[in-house]
Amino acid sequence: MKKIAVFTSGGDSPGMNACIRAVVRTAIYHNIQVVGIMHGYDGMINDEFIPLDAKSVANIIHRGGTILKTARSQEFLTIEGRTKAAKNLTKHGIGGVIVIGGDGSFKGALQFSKECDIPFVGCPGTIDNDLIGTDFTIGYDTAINTVVEAVDKIRDTAESHNRLFFVEVMGRDAGLIALRSGIAVGAEAILIPETKTNVDELINKLESGRKNKSSKIILVAEGDDAGGAFAIAEKVKAALPYYDTRVSILGHVQRGGSPTAMERVNASRMGFAAVEALMEDKKNVMIGIVDKQIQLTPFENAVKHIQELNPHLMKMVDILSL
Ligand code: ATP
Repeated sequence: MKKIAVFTSGGDSPGMNACIRAVVRTAIYHNIQVVGIMHGYDGMINDEFIPLDAKSVANIIHRGGTILKTARSQEFLTIEGRTKAAKNLTKHGIGGVIVIGGDGSFKGALQFSKECDIPFVGCPGTIDNDLIGTDFTIGYDTAINTVVEAVDKIRDTAESHNRLFFVEVMGRDAGLIALRSGIAVGAEAILIPETKTNVDELINKLESGRKNKSSKIILVAEGDDAGGAFAIAEKVKAALPYYDTRVSILGHVQRGGSPTAMERVNASRMGFAAVEALMEDKKNVMIGIVDKQIQLTPFENAVKHIQELNPHLMKMVDILSL
C-alpha cells in the first residue's frame, strides 16, 4: 500500500477532524502517501483530491466540523457516478480508502465494492450512534454534552416560571441522543422512536406528578412515533391547560462544537486502527470500539440498525423520573 485516500461523508460530526489527523499521521509514519477527497462522494466523482501531509492536519484535533467538508451525493447513487469515482481513484493510484461517515456512507462503500476492487475501511462518524459494532460513534459524546448544556439552561428558566418544556433533539431513526442526554439532565420523560409513545400515559403521568416538581422537561427525539415535539406538546396542552407549556427545538447546534476529550481519543484510535486495517488487507469493515477494544465489523452488519435498547436503562429512566 503506497497511497491511500481519506474522506468524510454524510452528516458532519465533532471528532471527524481528530480522525482525519490520526489517519494522515499514521499513514505518514508507515511511509504511505495520503490524499484527502473533498466533499464526500461528490468530490470522488468530481476529482477533488488534495495531498495531505503532517502539517495539513496540525491544530485541527479540537475543531468541530470537517476540514475535508462533507456532502450527501445524489450522483454516487447512480452507476455513472460511481464509475467516474472509480476512474478517479485509479488515476490517482489509490490503494485503499478510509471513509469517515454513517450508515449511508458505508452502504455506498458496500455498493461500490461490487464494482471496484479498491478496498474501503470505515470509521463511524455520526452523532446518532446508530451503528452496530461500536459502543460510541464519532460525534455522539459531544452531541450529548451539547444537549445537556443546552437543557440545563432550559431547566433554569423552566424552574423559574414553573414551565413544562418539550425539547426536541436529533434522531430520526435512533433515540440514543435523547435517551442518554435525557438521563443526564434528569428529564421527566424521554420519547424515542424505538419505543411506542403513548401520549395518554404521558398526560396521566404529568397530571399525577404535577405537584412533585415545579419544572418539567420532556426530551423528544425528532423521529418519535407520536410526532415531533410541537405535535405532542399541542395534545398535552389541550389535555392539561394549567401547564405553562413551551417547545424548544435544539437543531443543528447538536452537530457543531469542539469535540469532547473522549471523542478525540476514540476518533484518534479509530483513525489509527483504520490505516493498520488497510495495511493488513482488510476491506469493507468498520472500525469500532467495544468494551475499550478495537473491533472490526463488516459494513453489512454495521448498518443493520438493530441497536437494542438496554431494558434496565429504560426501567431506570421510569423510576428516576417520578
Ligand atoms: P449520517 O448518519 O450523519 O446521516 P450517513 O453516512 O448515513 O451520515 P447519508 O446521507 O445517508 O449519510 O449517506 C451518505 C452518502 O452515501 C449518500 O449521500 C450517498 O451518496 C451514499 N450512499 C448511501 N446509500 C447508498 C447506496 N445504497 N448506494 C450508493 N451510495 C449510497
